[in-house]
Amino acid sequence: MSATLSNEQLTSIANEYGTPVYVYHAEKITEQFHKLQSAFRQSKSRFFYASKALTNINILKHIHALGCHVDCSSINEVKLAVLAGFEKENILYTSNGIAFSEIEEAVELGVNINIDSLSNLEKFGRKYGHSYPVGIRLRPNIMAGGHLKISTGHEKSKFGIPIEQLDNILALVEAHDIFIAGLHVHTGSEIKDVSVFMKVADIFFDLVPHFRELVYLDLGGGFKVPYREDEEGTDVPLLGEKVAEAMQRLKDAYNRDFEAWFEPGKFLVSECGYFITQVNVMKQSGNTTFAGVNSGFNHLIRPMFYESYHRIANISNPDAPIHTYTITGNICETDTFAADRQLPEVREGDLLVFYNAGAYGFEMGSNYNSRFKPAQVLVIKGQPHLIGKRDTFEDLLRNQVEITF
Ligand SMILES: *Cc1c(COP(=O)(O)O)cnc(C)c1O
Repeated sequence: MSATLSNEQLTSIANEYGTPVYVYHAEKITEQFHKLQSAFRQSKSRFFYASKALTNINILKHIHALGCHVDCSSINEVKLAVLAGFEKENILYTSNGIAFSEIEEAVELGVNINIDSLSNLEKFGRKYGHSYPVGIRLRPNIMAGGHLKISTGHEKSKFGIPIEQLDNILALVEAHDIFIAGLHVHTGSEIKDVSVFMKVADIFFDLVPHFRELVYLDLGGGFKVPYREDEEGTDVPLLGEKVAEAMQRLKDAYNRDFEAWFEPGKFLVSECGYFITQVNVMKQSGNTTFAGVNSGFNHLIRPMFYESYHRIANISNPDAPIHTYTITGNICETDTFAADRQLPEVREGDLLVFYNAGAYGFEMGSNYNSRFKPAQVLVIKGQPHLIGKRDTFEDLLRNQVEITF
């Protein structure tokens, strides 16, 4: 039985904390982590939660308490992870396009680092030589993922060191005696097809003999979760089996053992999240019925940014006859959450819930149109806890400096 929050619970949270509000369900995160642990029990696998999906400190603490590790995409995320209690050896900083000074800071904090450019690798080698183990992020030239904007491994992608530059990498490693502890590939987000990960494993298979001190092979994140009613996610148990086979193949060929590292973001926190909005305005135009909610792409940008689909329900009128609606926001852009969506009759004042709102929801939010960022509530053992306050008017002016005219 999968952990879910009921319409009654969501309605009561909306009444207590107002809307729009993000609601997260701790036990769902736990359930997802246990799925990973169970699927990968046959290999030495480690999971680093890609914290950029949802960085609230309480979420980080919950994930830490599960025994999961953390992957960071900026030095600030590294500092948040430290604050949340993660041990330095369980923090990974997978950088891209960053200043070398951030890598220096990460070394001072003692965390694991994946470097994604020859330029930073060279600076790293000059400064640290063999003294600090480091991973390298490679670009495998594989096209995969749910949308071009979330595809990171293809041959025009900015991410990672292009694999055809292996000779340059090896020359730097040799020149500075760099301790290469890991190889990393993240092909993108929403990778349903297990064979994409296996292609990466094949690439690692060929690369391993070039690096004598490797400890880990990092296959990145991007496990897909179902967004649509009829959709399936990545077959995680199958992936677990295939990874165990790949690790065994490496052992048979080279007599070396490696840890398999993963960086799931969405898999851990997408389904735990519910975004509750309220209908401000109903509007009829030709054949289209608009339901305008008290939110917009300032709160949930995924549908507008990469055409993603979020399941929506009218929890105020669940048993009413079904009609077709276009759900829009209140922002001065065309912020369509969903076009031609079948929902039980929608009325002004109804609560519309967006599902799978835990990952890249609040996190990508902004104050565009000078609107407040929503409140955030975490439900633990049936009890709601406020973990993020709704903005107030003062927040809009917080970093503004008023000059005298
Ligand atoms: C974003 C990101 C992830 C997580 O992706 P999900 O689709 O949320 O699993 C993992 N690794 C790296 C390097 C990333 O940039």
